Amino acid sequence: KVDAHSLQITAAEALLRWHHPQRGMVSPTLFIPLAERHGLIGAIGNWVIDDATRQAAAWRALGLRMRVAINISAYQMRQDDLVDRLQAALARHQLQPGRFTCEITESVAMEDTQVTQRSFERLRRAGLHVSIDDFGVGQASLSYLRRLPAAELKIDASFVHDLGVTGAGGNDARAIVDAVVKLAHALGLRVVAEGVETERQRDLLVQLGCDELQGFLFAKPMNAVQLAVWAQLADERPPPQAVHFRDSLFLDTQPAEIAPPEAPAAPPPRGRRQ
Ligand code: MN
Repeated sequence: KVDAHSLQITAAEALLRWHHPQRGMVSPTLFIPLAERHGLIGAIGNWVIDDATRQAAAWRALGLRMRVAINISAYQMRQDDLVDRLQAALARHQLQPGRFTCEITESVAMEDTQVTQRSFERLRRAGLHVSIDDFGVGQASLSYLRRLPAAELKIDASFVHDLGVTGAGGNDARAIVDAVVKLAHALGLRVVAEGVETERQRDLLVQLGCDELQGFLFAKPMNAVQLAVWAQLADERPPPQAVHFRDSLFLDTQPAEIAPPEAPAAPPPRGRRQ
């Protein structure tokens, strides 16, 4: 994710990929439903939490200051220990919860079940950065959206895709993005557009007031090592790929993410009365 105006890198979203030794690349649209059916999705979700926090700490050690986002599944939102697990992983790597994003799809976020709501409340209390993902294709209740402890709203890629087309489809998409941006800003949420592939889409999104952009126009999915190299070379790239890490989003992060507990303030030196 990059800031729409400064093109400063703000975050990286962790995406699952499976390189099978014989089959090659197995699509997540294939293996996620399989994992769900065979009861493996819980273990995969836990692995994502552990590995994304580990990687976030490794990138931070390289000086790459950005949020790391993971996608939280409906299954995980129904687990009682989700937030405990996240907090333990963050503590293990000395990461501040606000630097870690949990993306939760609109359809899961709108589940009005007690257990999902309890997870939301715990995420809020733990100080994690919550993002409502794939917004606009589910059935959002606006009064309910207002109560969610989210900081960010991601417009579904299908609207971003349609933005650039000419004719009624394009006009509709522009009207929807316009409305979503206004709604989100009225609720104090930052708006991220994902699936940005063309300069025309980018220009329209900036014009409509999107705060952050994500998509192939800036970077394709890459592995952790590639990302570190890509980020460190970012300043040398011509526009529109000229994203950068200068003027970090997190001006207060150096050198340690978590400041040691403050020692009680020493009493002010008393001037010796003469
Ligand atoms: Mn996502």
